Amino acid sequence: MKTTLIILLNLAIMVAIGQDKEEQWLTKFEKSNYMQTVSYDECIAFSKKLAHKSEIVHYSEIGWSPQKRAIPMLIIDKDGYTLPEDIKKTGRLIMFIQAGIHAGEPDGTDAGFMLIRDMIIYQKHLGLLDKVSILFIPSFNVDGLARMSAYNRINQNGPEEMGWRTNSNNLNLNRDYMKADSPEMKAWLKVFHQYLPDFFIDCHTTDGADYQYVATYGIETYGNMDNELTQWLSHYYEPKLKEQMQQKGSPIFPYVSFKKWHDPRSGLVRRVGTPMISQGYTALQNRIGLLIETHMLKAYKPRVYATYNLLVMSLEMMNAEAKTLKKLHHNADLLMSSEKLGPQKLCVAYQVDYMDTTQVDFLGIEYDMQVSDLTGGEWFQYSKTPATFQIDLFENQVEETVVKLPKAYIIPVEYPEVQEIIKSHGISFFITDKKHTIEIETYKFSQQKWGQNPYEGHHSLTSFKADPIQRKTTYEAGAMVVPVRQRALKVLTYLLEPKADNSFVSWGFFNASMEQKEYSETYVMEKMARKMIAENPDLLTEFEAWKKENPQRAKSQWLQCNWFYQKSPYWDQKKDVYPVGKITDQKVLFLLGQH
Ligand SMILES: [Zn+2]
Repeated sequence: MKTTLIILLNLAIMVAIGQDKEEQWLTKFEKSNYMQTVSYDECIAFSKKLAHKSEIVHYSEIGWSPQKRAIPMLIIDKDGYTLPEDIKKTGRLIMFIQAGIHAGEPDGTDAGFMLIRDMIIYQKHLGLLDKVSILFIPSFNVDGLARMSAYNRINQNGPEEMGWRTNSNNLNLNRDYMKADSPEMKAWLKVFHQYLPDFFIDCHTTDGADYQYVATYGIETYGNMDNELTQWLSHYYEPKLKEQMQQKGSPIFPYVSFKKWHDPRSGLVRRVGTPMISQGYTALQNRIGLLIETHMLKAYKPRVYATYNLLVMSLEMMNAEAKTLKKLHHNADLLMSSEKLGPQKLCVAYQVDYMDTTQVDFLGIEYDMQVSDLTGGEWFQYSKTPATFQIDLFENQVEETVVKLPKAYIIPVEYPEVQEIIKSHGISFFITDKKHTIEIETYKFSQQKWGQNPYEGHHSLTSFKADPIQRKTTYEAGAMVVPVRQRALKVLTYLLEPKADNSFVSWGFFNASMEQKEYSETYVMEKMARKMIAENPDLLTEFEAWKKENPQRAKSQWLQCNWFYQKSPYWDQKKDVYPVGKITDQKVLFLLGQH
């Protein structure tokens, strides 16, 4: 009798300890009945707790935010390795999962914490670490997370409080992948090119029209990604992911925009991901990027679980295809580095072809459109009734700008901020040790138009003409020479070709070179213009023609005089000329110091 009692008591204590253990390892999301997410301090504490518990989880910090908060990263490796060279030696692939780049969309934070906890506490999904090691940033935009409030996401159904979209400088980090203004992005790029992950996942929650899907996804399969990797994504990964999510009862659909804002029936549009956002950027680095966008109107619980499932499924497919993926990445990098087999031309901007559509089934929600008696605008009123719409999908892309690749680009010493950004992308280069006067190709700009409002803190050049020119140019010592044949060929070309999506020129890095800095006095020019016409009578005919074509400008004496100034030898020959040169002759490249 006594023995039985002791056994029962012991059992009760063990159950109680077990429950404690369970309780201790619940995430805040689970403890709060799936209604809450972590604050910055809780995020760091839970990350450290996981690392403290297990040999296979390592806590690290990749850098600092503008408000000097550490950006955490967990490294999960079955042998406890943390350095990229050690992990790569084991032959394992690297999965890089990022949550909270928009801190108001923390689904990935809670999904990632549960996944790592499930691995180390419940020994669940441990097999996923056989052929893959994981880097997990539980919250990238840490200053945004610290600005927690219930009022940060007006459209979004939970959690109860969440972080803010931008960092403390009000920069959207998911527009910063190319220009890398923020310290957060500089730190991220360092991690990216050190580890060169085989798969990257960026976790978000989207605004937009209502539909049935809890989650939508974006992957790059429209031309900006290496061809073989595109085939792998569209023939293996994408269909399998869709099928498995369907089996889980949570069908997914590609992340689309609508041809007409808010109106799904107007047609769905898929685009090439711009490289200022994460998965568009990794594509230029020949690496797969998955964008997860859960839907704002769905409850927080199914959103987090959908994210969790997408992480697990992607890890499963990486394990199953580890050998293939490794080879595909190797080949993609090699192709970019090869003078003989690599591309001679590169498309650097795409546009959706609105002449070409396919019909698809889209799991929508019935809605009515009424004219608002308050604003007079179109008011979309969604019902609760699911409906399958057969609608147009516009997904064919046309090449908008294609450039011929030079042997190298040369960036003058007087643009150190441009040189620094090139470095932060892990691009190979060398620096010249003396002054060189060389023949280069470059561009002459005209018809420039700038955006009226700042965009991400920049005065962006929104449209311009760029005519190719050739000229002899002197570059002082300290110029940066960037050979094109390297694994990051696409990144460097997009940054340095003015017409490319997210080029330095389009962000306004070279605005000053387009300003007129010397002016002629009208009374000086009136006299000089007469002298110029006397020497070259054709000039007058040309001048009259210009006045006819520009009647508004011809009203200004100053602009007329400036027209003559531009034809005089006093005109600034550097104005509107792109300071970056394209070297097309291998001999010039050797002369500069490439051996
Ligand atoms: Zn987002």
